[in-house]
Amino acid sequence: MKRIVLPHSDLPDRWYNIVADLPSRPAPYLHPQTLEPLGPEFFAPLLPQALIRQEFSTERWVEIPDRVREIYEIWRPSPLYRADRLERALDTSAKIYYKFEGVSPAGSHKPNTAIAQAYYNKLEGTKRLTTETGAGQWGSALAFAGSVFDLDVTVYMVKSSYHQKPYRRVMMETWGATVFPSPTDRTAAGRAILAEDPDSPGSLAMSISEATEEAAGRDDTKFAPGSVMNYVLMHQTVIGLEAKKQMELAGDYPDVVVACVGGGSNFGGFTYPFLQDRLAGRKPRTRFVAAEPDACPTLTRGKYAYDYPDTARTSPVMLMHTVGNTFMPPPIHAGGLRHHADAPSLCLLADQGHIEARAYSQGDVFTEAVRFARSEGFIIAPESSHALRAAVDEALAARVAGEPRTIVFNLSGVGHFDMGAFDDFLAGKLADYEPPDERIQECLTSLPQVPEPA
Ligand SMILES: *Cc1c(COP(=O)(O)O)cnc(C)c1O
Repeated sequence: MKRIVLPHSDLPDRWYNIVADLPSRPAPYLHPQTLEPLGPEFFAPLLPQALIRQEFSTERWVEIPDRVREIYEIWRPSPLYRADRLERALDTSAKIYYKFEGVSPAGSHKPNTAIAQAYYNKLEGTKRLTTETGAGQWGSALAFAGSVFDLDVTVYMVKSSYHQKPYRRVMMETWGATVFPSPTDRTAAGRAILAEDPDSPGSLAMSISEATEEAAGRDDTKFAPGSVMNYVLMHQTVIGLEAKKQMELAGDYPDVVVACVGGGSNFGGFTYPFLQDRLAGRKPRTRFVAAEPDACPTLTRGKYAYDYPDTARTSPVMLMHTVGNTFMPPPIHAGGLRHHADAPSLCLLADQGHIEARAYSQGDVFTEAVRFARSEGFIIAPESSHALRAAVDEALAARVAGEPRTIVFNLSGVGHFDMGAFDDFLAGKLADYEPPDERIQECLTSLPQVPEPA
């Protein structure tokens, strides 16, 4: 069986909240000014109550509203594939499967949470949503969700991407969203950045500052983050819950579960339902591999420490693997993997040895993306190509060891908006970049001075 599909009746009816099963209590969020632990009320100007409750929930399962499942049915359950042609191309003894999230209207996993966030906002009377976007996938997903629920969407898009990926902007505008290249002069945070550097290319952390400032300042407006938050990862668990059923249909259980990490939402969404088995002792030997770019190596080179999620330092301080909130990653094409820190639950699990991390160079991942296009057919996003690359490494290691190995990775999205990047790669013109080690050391000095976790 090459393509394993589930009927609509197998669409999950609840999300999985890993916070209920973490090996230790997650560290509290801290107030950005006082650095004291903060409670749910901090988020009231930014998020609807339902999402604040989900953020702090310790319930293992949270029901998916019928209206959200109805919209999910446009593209879910998504298919799981056996990558048999890739296996032959690699001449490996391993079996490779991939879950394909590229079938959503926006072309990635991101609508899984965009739809849920727009739904809860609509329910509580929100009229407008603001958000950040890097390469534009999150902005696209939220623009789509805004059109479904009739909400105005304003997107602060990292300026360098805004100019590099004009069609992403057009996509967002087609769904009715308004897009600004960030930093802008619309917010105090943006004006402060421009005063220091009028040519600032922007960063995700800057866009978050602008989007949250606008949401906090208007009663009719809330903020919709694309990753990192607990509830975002929880919404994404529809991916892993479906994939588990599909692996069962295939008569297999993975030895290795792989996904790429930007902020951690597709990684958490895909792996946590499998990780639940490991944490419960049912599958203690299953391994979990997080793939990241060597240009923004949060898990492999960052520090496990409290940091701000944004440059204006107005968002809650979280315990994460971070390369520092002032870090400006080299302009690699995997724009979705350029966040300076990752989701707290993922970082906790990595810190406790449940998740391994690998970092790859841009050239390495494009080599695999092209092999994949020529074996499996799909042209996949540069972000997803990091997961592919880690899956291929596992398959090659299995061949060397002469072992069977069942590998499943999350294919988080398609690469149809990344043709400029593929063009550069095929022409041998992918830009080089300096290894960021030294700058990471500098940026880590910008961390807030909070007592370190014991
Ligand atoms: C945004 C994005 C990512 C990275 O974000 P996470 O929150 O880490 O999942 C990865 N792949 C694709 C296709 C994306 O759009």
